[in-house]
Amino acid sequence: MSKTFIPIDLHCHSTYSDGSLTLPELFEMVQKNNGRYLALTDHDTVAGLAEAHALAPQYNINLISGVEISVSWRGNNLVHIVGLGVDANNQQLIDNLNSLRAQRIERGRKIADKLARIGIHGAFEGAMSYCKNPEALSRTHFNDWLVAKEYAKAGKAFDKYLAPGKAGYVAQKWAELEDAVKWIKDSGGIAIIAHPARYKFTRTKLGNLITDFKACGGSGIEVISSSHSLQDEEYIASLCQHYGLLASIGSDFHKNESYRTIRPGINKAPPHGLATVFDFLGITDTSFEVETHDK
Ligand code: AMP
Ligand code: MN
Ligand code: MN
Ligand code: MN
Repeated sequence: MSKTFIPIDLHCHSTYSDGSLTLPELFEMVQKNNGRYLALTDHDTVAGLAEAHALAPQYNINLISGVEISVSWRGNNLVHIVGLGVDANNQQLIDNLNSLRAQRIERGRKIADKLARIGIHGAFEGAMSYCKNPEALSRTHFNDWLVAKEYAKAGKAFDKYLAPGKAGYVAQKWAELEDAVKWIKDSGGIAIIAHPARYKFTRTKLGNLITDFKACGGSGIEVISSSHSLQDEEYIASLCQHYGLLASIGSDFHKNESYRTIRPGINKAPPHGLATVFDFLGITDTSFEVETHDK
């Protein structure tokens, strides 16, 4: 089936957090896909942005400085807030992200201890072997090791071991919502609720999140995301309009996966009629399209 995409991707990962590709590998894929505007949004770090800005012109990529901050909202609800257009040299942002990342190794040991209790040994070292920057140790790296060791099928390790309520889950206190939004805004960026449908919140709960988020100065929401179904896109688009948010679009690319197709660098256009984050980011030529012929 032929589908139309636009060459804008405002959410993706590299080996600076839990993506599998180095920046040159990622940018090569983006260029192959005819992507033009790319935000690098690694988890809780802006460390990759200097290298990314230095490399991007060689791949004809307009790089947008981004970050994806882990937030614990109203207790232990894990929510991700993307910041776009941030200043990667902002000291408040850097210092606070450093504190967040400092928790990751310790949590990783706790995850491994919990897995050991159900007979899965060596998970800490195993996950670390998939992680290029140890301080960025993520459940994704545990996922990779669990799948490689055949404790779970590809795409199933979260449901089996790593998601809330499962044997390897460790609840973590991440940033406060208002702090994450403040760090992003104080460094010149715009704050966006990442992949809202993935949280599986009720309509009321998602409405509460949006209300809190707007009260802190948050502005946008991802309408198009690789974790959204067509119905999710329609639902989030309606919330976007209802709450007066700006629509964002992002692949949330981490790696090439045999069980699903996500192309970094391009996305479906946001639904017509929605105000978008493009203006804020200085993306003006949004009209041109990229044709692809696979699903
Ligand atoms: P962490 O920040 O270490 O708790 O890990 C969260 C990361 O795990 C997310 O950014 C996603 O990349 C990944 N993740 C979370 N839930 C799932 C899932 N159900 N399937 C695959 N990856 C997931
Ligand atoms: Mn991730
Ligand atoms: Mn996320
Ligand atoms: Mn992400």
